Amino acid sequence: MGVCEICGRIGEVRDAVVEGAMVQVCSRCSKHGNVVFIPKPVALERKKEVESFEYIDVIVDNYSSLIKDGREKKGLNHEELAKAIAEKESVISQVEAGNMKPNFKLAKKLAVFLNIELIENVESSKEGYKNINFKDSSLTIGDLLKKE
Ligand SMILES: [Zn+2]
Repeated sequence: MGVCEICGRIGEVRDAVVEGAMVQVCSRCSKHGNVVFIPKPVALERKKEVESFEYIDVIVDNYSSLIKDGREKKGLNHEELAKAIAEKESVISQVEAGNMKPNFKLAKKLAVFLNIELIENVESSKEGYKNINFKDSSLTIGDLLKKE
């Protein structure tokens, strides 16, 4: 038993990371896509239903330049980066050239190793994907709950 730090309900709570902060949340609040439980690893290919919303993870559009910049910041060449994350050099070249979109497994490895963000959580709707920036401090989980 505990108090949910998001909605204030008293009941079963779980440790979670929300927007970079460690909090305790109830099962209702935990259904939001930007809640990450500890110690479970981030499920990159998860799909979450949030009332009428659906959030899905996608690879960012500018993945190629992010990876290239991240690699150069580390002072690595294609071969060294490939070895470091156990991939083929040709894969790194193709991804950086924008010819090949990394799958989630590769994107996660690159993101962790290069300390970059390659995966974003977007709202999926009938009109297509709509970006939601969870880092925007003006948008809180409370705001998301109010949406219909
Ligand atoms: Zn709650």
